[in-house]
Amino acid sequence: MKAKRKLKIQNKWSGNPQGILENTDCCIKEVWTDMRSHQCSRKRGHGKDKLYCKQHDPEKIKKKEDAKDRKIELKIEKETQKDKRIQILLKMAKGLSIKELKYCHICFKKD
Ligand SMILES: [Zn+2]
Repeated sequence: MKAKRKLKIQNKWSGNPQGILENTDCCIKEVWTDMRSHQCSRKRGHGKDKLYCKQHDPEKIKKKEDAKDRKIELKIEKETQKDKRIQILLKMAKGLSIKELKYCHICFKKD
């Protein structure tokens, strides 16, 4: 049989250093409002042991962050590719005069 989880102490602050036991109907996540922490007031039922609300579900948050990281990685990759093209163009252009470069349709748009 699974051991019962010890209830978490919430709402700990200087005016109440002992805090209060968690509300077992609400999401277990500690949130901050006006410099004070308190238990999230949303209904629990998501994530590990269904202790979290939809918004604070750690697995969902991780997935969201991973997707964000991937988006940033793709952007960096794209920028690097662009940079590589510029590097190649610069290598190709080395030794050419400005007059000759003016005929390069990649470097200069024809008016
Ligand atoms: Zn919550």
